[in-house]
Amino acid sequence: MQWFGRKESGNVEDRRGFTGGRIAAGGGIIGVIVLVINLLMGGDAGTMLNQMQDQNKTEQTPGITDPEEDKMAKFISVALADNEDVWKDIFRQMGKEYEEPKLVLFRQATESGCGDASSASGPFYCPDDRKIYIDLSFMDELRNRFGAKGGEFALAYVLAHEVGHHVQNLLGVSSKVKAMKERVNKVEANKLSVALELQADFYAGVWANHEEQINHTLEAGDIEDAMNAANAIGDDAIQKKAEGRVVPDAFTHGTSQQRVAWFTKGYKTGNMNEGNTFDQLQ
Ligand SMILES: [Zn+2]
Repeated sequence: MQWFGRKESGNVEDRRGFTGGRIAAGGGIIGVIVLVINLLMGGDAGTMLNQMQDQNKTEQTPGITDPEEDKMAKFISVALADNEDVWKDIFRQMGKEYEEPKLVLFRQATESGCGDASSASGPFYCPDDRKIYIDLSFMDELRNRFGAKGGEFALAYVLAHEVGHHVQNLLGVSSKVKAMKERVNKVEANKLSVALELQADFYAGVWANHEEQINHTLEAGDIEDAMNAANAIGDDAIQKKAEGRVVPDAFTHGTSQQRVAWFTKGYKTGNMNEGNTFDQLQ
């Protein structure tokens, strides 16, 4: 995907430098106290503010950032802006208004509207605060554990899948499915969860289709990267790695084959009406 130098989203909440940020803020607070004391003692505010700004510059010199991860953060920010363009357009065509979700980038752990988030839970969408949570180290995990080719577009697919859950939330699908799950047994409830996940994959494909038409940014190999990722994080693939065998009843995301199939259908048709993943699973 061509992304370098392109528009980034204003909806990224970067909490990766939280510790570093706090140190810098702490220095700032001490600076303010020093300024107040100096002013009380008759100092010149202008000169002191300049000195403080110089001081802050040195405090914020990055020492803990990982250039490779920063590159991914920029990439995902551009991909989020692309999702905003596409979904605004699709919602307008449906006579609805698209509300943009926020994307929280974090390291190791953070708080979400759906409880504590950790790297172990993987990327997810919280319908309560309408935010997507991603620890970018997930991409290393994808490469190391599941052997997915770590092309950038694999990350775009993961993001588009989470945006897909946001779309389901806005369209009222999530709440309908939640209510339905309460009325059926565990096996049926699991089928509904799978259908919801596969529809998010379908929406990721719809995004890729429109992205190609609106922004013309897709490059050779991108769709293959996305399908590789979908294939690597299908529940059967994950369970085979974890337990050495496949247990279909415990699936919540769908098999690798189903995930690739629904993403591909979304990508080929680009048509929201083709995404009824619920009918076919019952
Ligand atoms: Zn999902």
